[in-house]
Amino acid sequence: MRPQTFEEFIGQEDAISQIRLALSASKKRAVPIDHVLLSGPAGLGKTTIAQLISKSTGGRCVETAAQVIKNPSDVLAQIINLRDHDVLFIDEIHDLPINVQEFLYPAMEDYKVTTVSQVNRRSSVTVNLNRFVLVGATTIEGRLTIPMLDRFGIVCRLTPYSSEEIAEVVRKEARRENLSITPEAVKLIAARSRFTPRVALKQLRRIHDSSIALGKDTLDLESALHAYKLLRIGEYGLTDHDRSMLKILAASQSAVGVAALASAMNTSTETIETVIEPHLMRLGAVARTPKGRVITPIGRGLIK
Ligand code: ADP
Repeated sequence: MRPQTFEEFIGQEDAISQIRLALSASKKRAVPIDHVLLSGPAGLGKTTIAQLISKSTGGRCVETAAQVIKNPSDVLAQIINLRDHDVLFIDEIHDLPINVQEFLYPAMEDYKVTTVSQVNRRSSVTVNLNRFVLVGATTIEGRLTIPMLDRFGIVCRLTPYSSEEIAEVVRKEARRENLSITPEAVKLIAARSRFTPRVALKQLRRIHDSSIALGKDTLDLESALHAYKLLRIGEYGLTDHDRSMLKILAASQSAVGVAALASAMNTSTETIETVIEPHLMRLGAVARTPKGRVITPIGRGLIK
């Protein structure tokens, strides 16, 4: 399902050209490419890009997430087994405990780590590592420590896709799955998928289900609207969560802080900051002020 080459990858031209340039220079100079940080909301292609980098370097892509790395020993077990050209992909890297980040600095800079000796537990040993590439992904770049950020030679900020790019992702996937889809259905997905490929592909699958339920052999506007009704996704891709945030803000006389919003909506501050709010801000429905979030006239229009 994921694009297999950089040519197949749609959009994110700035990030992709920066990475491809670094890859081709590193091949010419026979040195590993600098470590790469990919920042941006979920579902924009960070894991896919990490896999494409490993395809280009000719190594493996070893995937892990900061949430499962509690101690330096958890990451040591992984980096010690990396070969030259392998990619170590760490998702949500801003969540790594500080001692793990500090342990990683010499690994990133000099391909070395210092660890407790297995022979004499009171002494330390330095282990040389193979020349791997660390690809970090973050949905909240602001939470990354400056020393960690500084160790990434290449920092790419992924941005939401255009409607036309999302339409291309959808058409390509439909072709791959041998699905017939009308231009109107593609256009509706492009309008309702929050400019995010993962969301668009998920909606495509639900629309396929609806078309089967309706006995159609083409994914058309009717099957799309049927699916969106079941998913409770409305115009501009607004979900119950988005509407609930807008209603809370509309009812409040003053700005509302993110913690108060999370508790009123029964969700986490992280979901608000990384999923709900970025889309509402992009639509111009919500604004951030030093005192908290406020609804805009556009936002009020969306809940009328
Ligand atoms: P992230 O790691 O940022 O959460 P992923 O790389 O897992 O995102 O991408 C989510 C889904 O969207 C995957 O199925 C992937 O194949 C697809 N996708 C992401 N970006 C693109 C793109 N530019 N072109 C085609 N498919 C994409």
